[in-house]
Amino acid sequence: DDLLRATDPLVAGWIDQELDRQRSHLELIASENFTSAAVMAAQGSVLTNKYAEGLPSKRYYGGCEFVDAIEQIAIDRAKALFGAAHANVQPHSGAQANAAVFLALLERGDKILGMDLSHGGHLTHGSPVNQSGIYFEALHYGVDPVSHRIDFDQVRELAHTHRPRLIICGYSAYPREIDFERFREIADEVGAYLLADIAHIAGLVVAGVHPNPIPHCDVVTTTTHKTLRGPRGGLILTRDEALGKRFDKAVFPGIQGGPLEHVIAAKAVAFGEALQPEFKTYAADVVANARSLAERLTARGLSLVSGGTDNHLMLVDLRSVDLTGKQADLLMSDVNITTNKNTIPFDPQSPFVTSGLRLGSPAMTTRGLGTAEFGEIGEIIANRLTQPTDARVEADCLERVASLCTRFALYPHLGRVVAP
Ligand code: PLP
Repeated sequence: DDLLRATDPLVAGWIDQELDRQRSHLELIASENFTSAAVMAAQGSVLTNKYAEGLPSKRYYGGCEFVDAIEQIAIDRAKALFGAAHANVQPHSGAQANAAVFLALLERGDKILGMDLSHGGHLTHGSPVNQSGIYFEALHYGVDPVSHRIDFDQVRELAHTHRPRLIICGYSAYPREIDFERFREIADEVGAYLLADIAHIAGLVVAGVHPNPIPHCDVVTTTTHKTLRGPRGGLILTRDEALGKRFDKAVFPGIQGGPLEHVIAAKAVAFGEALQPEFKTYAADVVANARSLAERLTARGLSLVSGGTDNHLMLVDLRSVDLTGKQADLLMSDVNITTNKNTIPFDPQSPFVTSGLRLGSPAMTTRGLGTAEFGEIGEIIANRLTQPTDARVEADCLERVASLCTRFALYPHLGRVVAP
């Protein structure tokens, strides 16, 4: 805005350029989205000035009457959205939400069982470079080598052999529906807590286009910025009030200090948006658009991990076009498509190279694209990946991307600030 430009033209200039980048590229990173102007307004507000350690009406600071009202409505809306008995809206991110759950439920050295990172799990589910794998003994399950679906026989066998204290389901790169009831059965057989980390699919869950884990899990964590389309942040939910109190203490003072009330206000606004009927339409469109893209890619000879998608994301197995993830990522950025390279199950390449490309529909669905346009995106991607050295194909892809970006405006109220 003008005040920022006057005070710090350097930072303002880069923000303008980032806006321009977001407008001129097809955003297909499965974990990204475009929040509403209202969410951004709440986040960029005077609430950033306020300390509010504690919980609504139980604060360690004065002057909290308005942040109390804001945090309470964020909690109430989160509970209503997911059908949970208790919500903590303070985690600064998805990783913080998971860290708080571990602190609340586990002792150092306890066993945890989550999906292998290279099969679609997350770093916070027991990776040796994350505190979840440093302070706890992490065991990992994966997907079946043929169907690429969760290998429940392996989950059960590992659970019975090792008796983990916590089983984790919910993933960063799994394109299929998660059967929470089957995880509950296994957790009950061995007396483990069950955590569903629905960071990726939360928006689909609240809209009813993916099953809800709340009735089956002891605790559910999520980010608020992916399919849920809120500000960057985390959230902890549970059906169990007593456990909820433990999670509250684990967040503060366990792992965090003062909550980010400006982000919590933005969460409240986003939850309010997600409670509207239009959000159900949005989430259904996210799934339909992902399916349209998946079908077009498959029709063009690209193979997808598990053969397709049930949700908002898919993983292209690039061995079908003799490319690595690293190469494909660059080929995409050359034509203004933003994606990320990703390991595929049983990947022969290193995590820096990989054999996969992860694609998601949430952000471009927010921008207004429908199944026809996602089919067009499939054509552009297939053309680029099957003819990677053809300069005419590259120019054609760039033109088609530019045309889609022009047709579907992003943040028109912000005006156009940077020349390309
Ligand atoms: N859990 C899952 C399944 C995720 O995919 C992610 C983000 O990629 C996280 C947790 C971590 O969220 P954040 O980046 O907000 O810490």
